[in-house]
Order: sequence, then structure tokens, then C-alpha cells
Amino acid sequence: MGRIRILSDTVANKIAAGEVVERPASVVKELLENSLDAGANEFRIEVEAGGRRLIRLADDGSGMLRDDALLAFERHATSKLADVKDLLSIATLGFRGEALPSIASVSRLLLETRSPEEQSGAAVEFAGGKLLRCDEAALAAGTTITIRDLFFNVPARKKFLRSEQTEIAHIASLVTHYSLAHHGKTFLLRHNNAELLSVTPVATLRERVFQVFGSQILDDLVDLGDRSRDLNMPPDEQAPPDEPRFTRRFRLRGFVSGPQVQKLNRNSIYLFVNGRLIRDRLLLHAISAAYHNLMPPACYPFALLFLDCDAEEVDVNVHPSKTEVRFRHGSVVHDFVRDTIRDILMAQRPASNIPAPTPPQPGAGLPYSEFSQRIESMNFPSVSAAAATAADTGTLPEFVLRRPISPEPRFEFEPAPPTQKLGIPDTHGPLFPDAKPLSAESLDALTDLRPLGQIHDSFIIAAGRDGLWIIDQHVAHERILFEQVLAQRASGQTESQRLLIPLVINLSAAQQIEYARIAEELNSLGFETEPFGNRTVAVKSAPAGVPPAEVEKILFEILEIAERELRRASLDDVRRAMAASIACRAAIKINMRLEPAKIDWLLRALAATSCPMSCPHGRPIALRYATRDILKSFHRI
Ligand code: ADP
Ligand code: MG
Repeated sequence: MGRIRILSDTVANKIAAGEVVERPASVVKELLENSLDAGANEFRIEVEAGGRRLIRLADDGSGMLRDDALLAFERHATSKLADVKDLLSIATLGFRGEALPSIASVSRLLLETRSPEEQSGAAVEFAGGKLLRCDEAALAAGTTITIRDLFFNVPARKKFLRSEQTEIAHIASLVTHYSLAHHGKTFLLRHNNAELLSVTPVATLRERVFQVFGSQILDDLVDLGDRSRDLNMPPDEQAPPDEPRFTRRFRLRGFVSGPQVQKLNRNSIYLFVNGRLIRDRLLLHAISAAYHNLMPPACYPFALLFLDCDAEEVDVNVHPSKTEVRFRHGSVVHDFVRDTIRDILMAQRPASNIPAPTPPQPGAGLPYSEFSQRIESMNFPSVSAAAATAADTGTLPEFVLRRPISPEPRFEFEPAPPTQKLGIPDTHGPLFPDAKPLSAESLDALTDLRPLGQIHDSFIIAAGRDGLWIIDQHVAHERILFEQVLAQRASGQTESQRLLIPLVINLSAAQQIEYARIAEELNSLGFETEPFGNRTVAVKSAPAGVPPAEVEKILFEILEIAERELRRASLDDVRRAMAASIACRAAIKINMRLEPAKIDWLLRALAATSCPMSCPHGRPIALRYATRDILKSFHRI
């Protein structure tokens, strides 16, 4: 007898569940996609315990016929594909017929559904893939699916689930995404009976962005409008040479942020291709390429993009969870997206915020060298102008701090091309060939520095017993404040200042969750915040020294840090990251003249810190030009 056996459906479904149902958010995704395919206009989602205990989605869509209700749980049962040709042009979100049987095999599932065509509906119940009952039921038209005890029969999977907060954060972000893609529909998300998202139909995407993110973000966004282009398709590789070329229409809508918005991760990039939420490296690259030279390489914009094209141009059948796609003509799509965004950014060119062109970063945009050449030749305002304007308004863009490049030669120790990490210079210019970042041995010398003055209103020059010192005033102050914030936090004696008018900020659903997680820590760092109605928070006090205009920025930055770090790092790391953010915003800026007394104070305070070598973000604080090297340079030794 042979050894190969056909797996039973129960086993096959569990295997499929391994790919389709990674975590509670994947269940929500499959259910939402089914409801959207069923033409629903209202989606009510209830979640308990991060989705482990309960996920329920009620929709007002087409429902299922009674006979179909059971069939939907057969493997590969779908109403969306008839034959293999349909695979080439999929217009629905689902098509694999895998989701319902997979979910049913790893949970306790109740389906209640009625089609308007029938008088009564069906109630079908499964536990761990086994049918418990299938009854006729009196129901309103539409479908409600209730999933309890996800993974109750797959202990291995259950172990891999993260905290309740993390899982609900994934769900909230997913529902938020879909609500943005369907501004004409109602979305409601509740977790443990608290409302996380509730949006009613609006006429435009702009209004939906407002509902979801609030007005602050809208101010920073540029509307792409509705851009369609007929693109000429390159012939297929195997096509006969006389094959006529053809054009396809591509359409791009949505919003992108100006270069001043710099996110530390890609979480604020929302991509939809033909209405399907996807993660796609090609499109992410196209977006980065559009911002190439407008933003430091490790930063990302906010982007909400809807790309629509002929279904035959995109293969969605690439991955079981349907989150990846493959474009038939990838480079055409890439360039279309990049150029469309680039053009609109250029048209909007905010004079004070765009940094000077930099040498191309190794790696970034390499296959598109032609593009970077074009950018090199563009005319940007100089960095010092940008920094000066920014300093005037008190909003120094971060990239100016991170990458002190100046196109003008008078800034003598202009660094060589920045290193990968944050663009920190690691080499020094011609005049100070041996100036070294401060090392631990030279710490002693810091205590008796004699300040000589300031250059560029940004760097303190001081004579030390061992040579000449150059100190970056911003990062030095940042280090001082960072240690101060942490010390005060540790002793429970944070100094805070009351804001004249409490600041009310709007949070997205995901931010609201992050806020709940870190509210206590925020308060022990000197903020006084409290929830203020739905998805808004009132800020009454802030840590002493933080300019009121910066408070909002710090909070959003901290929420972003929390989102990024909390999933991995310890609370201590998060606390340090928060303190770094506060310190950075409260520190004196560069391009700021300092009184001699202030310079004195700064040097003394820096010498007293436990780590005067580098700022909390890892940048060097001081350079030293040793007396010995000065003597050598003058050929005296
Ligand atoms: P697929 O979406 O790939 O077709 P699913 O397993 O997700 O596969 O769903 C199987 C079928 O069940 C769908 O093709 C559809 O006919 C039906 N169905 C699922 N959810 C709903 C819903 N909310 N409303 C109406 N029909 C649904
Ligand atoms: Mg489906």
C-alpha cells in the first residue's frame, strides 16, 4: 500500500487557517472583506479581550440564501469565482473560498444570515470545525458572524498571541484603514464596550480623514485630487515583436503629507489597490522615491493612497491572506505613483521646510538613478535659510538638526556625506582633520572649559586644557534635559507648568489605544492629561520648559514611540524614549544666539551629566581639536 494519503477536510482547513488566520485582526479582515463584497453599507464590530474572547461583525449586506449558509463553510466554496478565467480579473475582495471554513476550524462560530429574497434566514453553528447545528431562524436581512474563543483548540497559536492591547491595536488600525477606503459607509468598532471608532457616511474622503484623524493632520496633508493617466504598456517579454502596444488607465487618489511630517516608521502609509488594503514593496519604494531628498532616508511620510487600475494589471492571488499583489507592469506603476506624488509635492513646495539637496544615499533610489539626477538639478532653498526661518517660528524641522549640512563653504567643518544611521556625520571636513567626538577619557577636561564664543549661532567654541572644543548647543542641552527629566521622574518630583488654555487634541483609534496604555507614564513625566469625550484628550499641564507650541508635537511623537516600542521594548526603554522626545523639544535650538552667561551655564551643566559624549539619540555632542594636533599642523612638533 502506498504511503501518500489525502488529508481530511478538517486537517486541510486547519492548515489553511495557519495562513489565513494569523491573529484576531486577520479574522476581522476576512469578515469585513466578506461584508464589503456583500455590498453592505454598515459594519458594526464588537470585540472583547483583544479578539480572543469575542469578535462579532454585523452587516446589512446581501445575506446568504438558506441553502448557501452551510455551503459557505465547505473548503473552496465561493460565490465570487466561476472558472479559472475569472482569476485574471478579480473584482471582489474575496475569491479563495477559504476564510469561513478556516476561521470555523479554529474557533466557535455562529453565522446568522438572511437574504432579502427569503422570508426566514439561517443560523449555523460550528465548534472547532464541527457542525453543531443549522436551523431556520427569523432574522433581519444581512449577516452577523460571531466568533468566540479564537484558537481555543490550537494552543500553539494561542501562545503566540500578543497582549490584548496589541491585538486590539491591530484590529483598530485595520478597521480604520477600511473606513478610509469607504467614506460613504458606516463603521463602528467597540472593544470591551468602549467605542473606538464610529464614523457615519460623508461625501468626501477629506471629511472621512477629518473624522478619523482630526483636523491637525489635515493641515499637513496635500490632496492628490483625482489623477488618471493612460499609460503605455511595454510589450510582454514573450510577445511577438509585431504585437501592438496598448494603453491602460491608472488612477491615483488620496492624500500625502508635506515633507515636514516625518514619521519614524511606515505605519502611517495606507495603500489600497482596487479597494484592497495591501502592503507592497514596490509602492512603498515609489513613495520613498517621491520624497527622496526632501526627507531624511530613515523617515516616512503619511500617505493614504488609492490606486485603481484594470483588474488584469494586478495579480491579487499571490498570498493566502491577500495582502500582497503583483503588478503585471511593475515599473510603469512605480514611476506613475512616484511622479504623481513628486509633482504635487513640488507644486506645493513649502518654501521654509525643504532641505537642501544631498548626495544620493547609497541604496536609496539606486535603480532610479535618472530620477535622482533630475532632483539634483532642482532648485531648493538653502538649509541655513530653512533653519533660520524655522528657528524664528520656533519650529525647527528635525532634519535640520539631524543632518547639519550646509551648501555654503563658510560652514567649515561640514561633514562628508552622512552615514546611514540618522545621517550622523562620522568624518570631518578639511580644516579640522583630527577633531574627534568627545570620548570618555577627555571627560575630565570638560570641567574647566573656557568659552570663547559661538559660531553660526549654533556651536559653542571653548578653550580647554587639552585643546579646542566645539560643542553643538542643541544636543548638549538635550542631554542635560534628558537626564533631568529622568532624574525627576525617578524621584517623583517632576516639574510641570500649567497651560494657559488646556489643549484638546484629537486621536485616531490606534492612538487612543496607545494613549490609554501610556497615560499614567505621561502623567509621571509631568503631563497632566485626561480623556475628553470620544477620541480626544485634554492636556492641562506639560513638563516645565517645554514651549506650549511644542506640546502637541511631543504628544504625537510619544504616541508614535509608544506604538513602535511598546510591542517590543521594556517600559524603561519607552520611558527613556519619551524623555528624549521631551528633551529634544524643550532644548535650545541651533541658529540661536546665546548670552555668555547661558553658555557658561550650559558647559557646566553638560560637564555634570553622566554621559556628556552623546545625545539621547546617539549624536555626538562635542568635537575636540587636540593641542597636540594643533602643534603638528603648525609644524611645531
Ligand atoms: P470568499 O470570500 O473567498 O468567497 P469566504 O470563505 O470568505 O470565501 O466566504 C464564502 C462565501 O460565503 C462567500 O463567497 C459569500 O458567498 C458568502 N459570504 C461570506 N460572508 C458573507 C456576508 N457577510 N454576506 C453575504 N455573504 C457572505
Ligand atoms: Mg472572504
